[in-house]
Amino acid sequence: MNYRTIEMQPRKRIALVAHDHKKRDLIEWARYNRAILVEHDLCATGTTGGLLQESLGLTVTRLQSGPLGGDQQIGAKIAEGEIDLVIFFWDPLEPQPHDPDVKALLRIAVVWNIPVACNRATADFMISSTLMHDSYDRLMPDYEEYRERLKHSA
Ligand code: PGA
Repeated sequence: MNYRTIEMQPRKRIALVAHDHKKRDLIEWARYNRAILVEHDLCATGTTGGLLQESLGLTVTRLQSGPLGGDQQIGAKIAEGEIDLVIFFWDPLEPQPHDPDVKALLRIAVVWNIPVACNRATADFMISSTLMHDSYDRLMPDYEEYRERLKHSA
């Protein structure tokens, strides 16, 4: 497998999502880290984004609510190369109507080697990394081989 790198700029494009019982956790975390978050571009699923905007006083690009397609929009943005980091506080104790979308978002983030924090401890480690303020060469499998896999089989 060949690899290539994609450069992340110091100003990161961060997607944030929290399921309903995890929203308070995310808001508390974001308030505590407001001084760092202000240096980056934020987008979020609809309800999470509204709460973040209100409690941080920062501009947050709001997508659809998660169950209405917001998780899929974030997944699409990852595939388009428009997201650098994901903070995704999903709820392990509550069934979700959009469970397939949750799984799809987690999967596509791994495909594109996007850092994902699924709980506060991981989010703390992520946001306190020196890489938050630096450029970073994200290593990626070169998917050209995959795209070409059936080229000569017809
Ligand atoms: P919400 O969506 O921010 O609109 O509540 C989050 C989710 O459930 O994925």
